[in-house]
Amino acid sequence: MITGIAASPGIAIGQILMIKNDQLNISKLTCKDSSAQLKKLKVAIDQSVLELQAIQEKALKELGAEEAEIFSAHLLLLQDPEILSQVNQMIETKFVNASWAIESVVKDVVTMFESMDDEYMKARATDVKDVFTRVLNHLEGITNTDLSKLDSDVILICDDLTPSQTATMNKKYVLGFLTNQGGKTSHSAIMARTMEIPAIVGLSSITNKVKNSDIIALNGSTGELIINPSDQELDEFKALKNKYQSGLDDLKKFIGKKATTTDGFTTVLAGNLGSYQDLESFHQNDAESVGLYRTEFLYMDRDSMPTENEQYEVYSKVLKSLTDKECVIRTLDIGGDKNLPYLKIKNEENPFLGYRAIRLCLKQTDIFKAQLRALLRASVHGNMAIMFPMISCLEELQMALQTLDDCKSELENESIPFSKTIKVGMMIEVPSAALITDVLAKYVDFFSLGTNDLTQYTCAVDRNNPKVQELYNPFNPGLLRLIHMVAKNANEKNINVSVCGSVAHHPTLVPFFIGIGINKLSMSAMHILKTKEQIINLTKSTCEKIAREVLKLETAEQIENYLLENQ
Ligand code: PEP
Ligand code: MG
Repeated sequence: MITGIAASPGIAIGQILMIKNDQLNISKLTCKDSSAQLKKLKVAIDQSVLELQAIQEKALKELGAEEAEIFSAHLLLLQDPEILSQVNQMIETKFVNASWAIESVVKDVVTMFESMDDEYMKARATDVKDVFTRVLNHLEGITNTDLSKLDSDVILICDDLTPSQTATMNKKYVLGFLTNQGGKTSHSAIMARTMEIPAIVGLSSITNKVKNSDIIALNGSTGELIINPSDQELDEFKALKNKYQSGLDDLKKFIGKKATTTDGFTTVLAGNLGSYQDLESFHQNDAESVGLYRTEFLYMDRDSMPTENEQYEVYSKVLKSLTDKECVIRTLDIGGDKNLPYLKIKNEENPFLGYRAIRLCLKQTDIFKAQLRALLRASVHGNMAIMFPMISCLEELQMALQTLDDCKSELENESIPFSKTIKVGMMIEVPSAALITDVLAKYVDFFSLGTNDLTQYTCAVDRNNPKVQELYNPFNPGLLRLIHMVAKNANEKNINVSVCGSVAHHPTLVPFFIGIGINKLSMSAMHILKTKEQIINLTKSTCEKIAREVLKLETAEQIENYLLENQ
């Protein structure tokens, strides 16, 4: 039995496929024509940017926003001024080839990350390698194994699976994967969990211990694996596999049940949607409603703005398939890390603090109105609510509401029908809005806490910047106090309040959310049944006590430990 780091739960038994990412043997060459090298480098970087953007879109559609952010971080790394200026300088002053310059500079950065004590930071070395190996491959004309072309069941084995390989692989045929490198927080581990593929990482030298015809039995829940198991071991693993599967099947008993605590507090468990395709998992996992439909993907996969009619068709299709289940549709949340090339937004120093989401919609009202009109027209086909993202003050909310009213008047004048009972809400993602939720509650029907952004803005930490990830902490006491304040204001003003950021299903935080009176948790649908199981076994009064204790604690570490003990 070999043991590594349990990265993603589940049992897999199958034949291995060894992935050898071609070792690049870069030679140092003297290149007098440094401008030719710089040009070559630029072309390789541009090609890498295009590829990463395509992978990012695929990840966004198939895996979710959190996983796609990995590639936003990769795109940032590709443009890292410090790395690039060192590479350029080396080419210009030492007259070396671009590949050599990249390899030398990146080697130092990788060594720096690898020598860090913090596991998360250590794992960032893989990101740097992944990004610049892509550039080097372009410079050297090398093509690596394309995992999107897999066509039979395999267990992947490699030194380290890069995030881009993980995102593009044909997951239908990947039974599991094993890597020499990596830790619990490496991106391939995060993505394996999202894709529900069993995985063990940090195995040191597994690639030297196996050959391509070998059979592996692996347990991603314990981190244990056996190479060429005996019949008896195979039987044991098959039994474990059945047990694991029946555990998942067991969760199905919660289908149709409400997420009600033992003392009668009910939380709606809703699903987040990125596209129509997500509805399959939504229905399978018994999501009660859509708590967040991110509409930006409708705008992202194309060269021009979707028309009002095109949008109307998509929204109608989604609403019809949900019958009477509520669907909270968020208006366009573009900008920041989600760019639309055809909008030609000028590069900004601080895109997350800049021209994005509702700010852009309120300035480019043609875009905003096309979407609002499409939404209003589609509203007759189901139970729709509209939600505005990134509101930072009352004036913005009022302008958005006024634009919605203008669209309603236009449609009335054109005798086009729309629902008269559409609820309107806003995301709470900006501290300046969270702090005046007592005021904002008078103008909307509901709040939804966008904790992904609220964390970034409250803690002043870029959600995509790996260098400061340790500060991007959902247990930050300031953040939790702010969330509590929003829930309190919403409850006092009798409006609904939900959480739709990625911590909504975090088992450590769920009791806190229940304790402060969150009415709805909206998450990737695959987490719903597990969260329901947890809530059904909770007691609201205990959760309230837990929340009170949490709000007294002083550091994120104390809070996390306390919540872990009281989960
Ligand atoms: C959030 O910020 O928490 C959120 C749900 O929105 P997004 O992740 O799309 O920015
Ligand atoms: Mg957000």
